[in-house]
Amino acid sequence: MVQFHPPDELLLGYAAGSLSEPWSVLVATHLTLCPDCRRATADLEEIGGLAIEDLAPVAMSPTALSSVMAAVAGASYAEGVQDAPPAFPFLDLAVGDPPLPRPLATYLNRAGTPHAWRTLLPGVQEAALPAHAASGRPSLMRIRPGYPVPQHTHVGSEAIILLAGGFSDGLGDYRRGDVSFADGRHEHRPVAHRDAVCLCFIVTDAPVRFTGVIGRLLNVFNRS
Ligand SMILES: [Zn+2]
Repeated sequence: MVQFHPPDELLLGYAAGSLSEPWSVLVATHLTLCPDCRRATADLEEIGGLAIEDLAPVAMSPTALSSVMAAVAGASYAEGVQDAPPAFPFLDLAVGDPPLPRPLATYLNRAGTPHAWRTLLPGVQEAALPAHAASGRPSLMRIRPGYPVPQHTHVGSEAIILLAGGFSDGLGDYRRGDVSFADGRHEHRPVAHRDAVCLCFIVTDAPVRFTGVIGRLLNVFNRS
């Protein structure tokens, strides 16, 4: 049961087709797992469809087509996770782990082979995904059971969708399908649940700024 949803502006942007591809994929991934947001987005799309006849034509952005394709991929599988998605050996998904939702699996296939896991901190690994610089910074993150990500705030926005396992961050207890959205107003310290590896898809539009004592050290190294 999904409890945490993307903010309204993301659903609106998705319905309007105005999100860049990584953000669009994140929302589509949530939609495959959240009937409430599927209904809300369908309503928004209907309203948009009624309004579109009044709009003057505008030039499309270079990423418009891929955003639409991502939206289509999301819509096609909006009734939940259907077929077994392609295997991604580097993810090390365990037998019995839930499959990747289709929009994300499609995106990973199209994006090409993600970079290998890179250890950020003890217990915390990241695989950055290829993307256009201006479209948001997509990555996968996995956290070993019980391990924390140091307390941090955000210069821009950060959205995390939980794919397997879960984490708590003082603001909520997040599980598969839940979206944690943070910006400069939020400060949080996710700690992975103790019973499973936590796997997430993350999109940021600005570097994370770590706070606290460990954070001050990490910022020195993240400054490049
Ligand atoms: Zn939702």
